[in-house]
Amino acid sequence: MNNSYDVIVIGLGIMGAAALWRVAPKCARVLGVDAFGPSHCYGSSQGASRIFRRAYWEGEKYLQLLNQADLLWNELEDVTERRLLYRTGGVFIGAKSSRVVAGSIKTAKHGKIDHEVWMASDARKRMPAFNLQDEMLAVYEPGAYAISASEARLWMLNEAVRCGAITEFGNHVLKLENHGTAIRVTTKNGRIYFAGSVIVTVGPWVTNNLMPEFKSFLEPRQVPIYWFKPKVGADKLFSHEQFPVFLYEREDSSLLYGVPSIVSNELGVKIGFHNRQQNSISPSWKSAPVQDMYKNEISSIIQSILPKLDPIPTQAKNCFYTMTRDESFLIGISKEFKSTYFASACSGHGFKFAPAIGDALANMAIAQKPNCSLLAFSADRFNSSL
Ligand SMILES: Cc1cc2nc3c(=O)[nH]c(=O)nc-3n(C[C@H](O)[C@H](O)[C@H](O)COP(=O)(O)OP(=O)(O)OC[C@H]3O[C@@H](n4cnc5c(N)ncnc54)[C@H](O)[C@@H]3O)c2cc1C
Repeated sequence: MNNSYDVIVIGLGIMGAAALWRVAPKCARVLGVDAFGPSHCYGSSQGASRIFRRAYWEGEKYLQLLNQADLLWNELEDVTERRLLYRTGGVFIGAKSSRVVAGSIKTAKHGKIDHEVWMASDARKRMPAFNLQDEMLAVYEPGAYAISASEARLWMLNEAVRCGAITEFGNHVLKLENHGTAIRVTTKNGRIYFAGSVIVTVGPWVTNNLMPEFKSFLEPRQVPIYWFKPKVGADKLFSHEQFPVFLYEREDSSLLYGVPSIVSNELGVKIGFHNRQQNSISPSWKSAPVQDMYKNEISSIIQSILPKLDPIPTQAKNCFYTMTRDESFLIGISKEFKSTYFASACSGHGFKFAPAIGDALANMAIAQKPNCSLLAFSADRFNSSL
């Protein structure tokens, strides 16, 4: 068996699936490997939906990647002839000076992104599902959307295979080694491969043994996510035709996000905290149940901000954020291994960027210039502050 590849992608969550999709048409021999099955619930990419928005309160440094990702999400939808994007629009709510409102307006203006700013009274009329305090504002981005997340990831893998990539699941990579001009990849089940380039996209597991050099920069955290059903008679208000993806920053700076149900088997509107209820934890295949005190906390908040939802969650589940201390991304070139590129920390907001990050990694792996600069996300920014 020929065990040599031009490029091996390790970890097929959304980042690895995107990298495999982008690199497969560019090389003769491409392999993608994942420790678990094609569709599993242990990492960060599980679930039906993710938010895409460009009026990014987190800052203008993300704009180039966001614009490229938007193009590629649309390309994926076109090429697969599947509905993967639900054009819900997005609403970002908070006090005038809150990070979410002030930051979204700033980036929208800078990037010339179509948006409107509504006073609370206007927002209540236009989005009657939300309860806003009088001093709050809502920034509306009509171009924001919900991504059909697990479908999109599986279609990226499908496209990669259609273009000639090989995928292996249940194949846990144990170690990487420099080997002449190649990289030697050893897996738990005893297989050995050689690659001209390697792309490492193993999410919260990256510091386990593949790239322990990042241990001090990254922190995997367990985060809960909840689903809420509309109260009797309120279904229409929360349908994806009427209810936008949203961010809601409260007075105490806690930030909630939500997505209407876009698949028929989802148990209501998906809502979670972006910056609360997080516990530092090692990722494992077994996810712990969500604590009752967390469920009670979110229930009382749902009662006040979305009073037409039943505040008792229909379902609650834990998954992972891989955090850097500045809540940004860690993407770049390994200093230890030759031709090895990684993207493994997206601090709980990376899904929307995946096609652009995957495309950039794919280009680097074949010694081409990436379409977007990744310099802002290099680990070097932490070295100076060690
Ligand atoms: C609840 C929740 C909601 C979110 N909402 C949004 C949102 O609305 N918008 C947004 O942009 N982002 C969102 N995010 C963030 C986004 O989902 C993540 O940034 C993204 O999924 C990270 O993907 P990944 O591919 O890096 O990691 P993962 O999905 O964790 O994938 C890593 C893969 O590597 C495999 N692996 C690990 N170790 C090995 C090994 N040794 N050998 C082989 N394979 C290995 C794993 O099996 C896994 O499949 C959310 C995250 C969560 C948890």
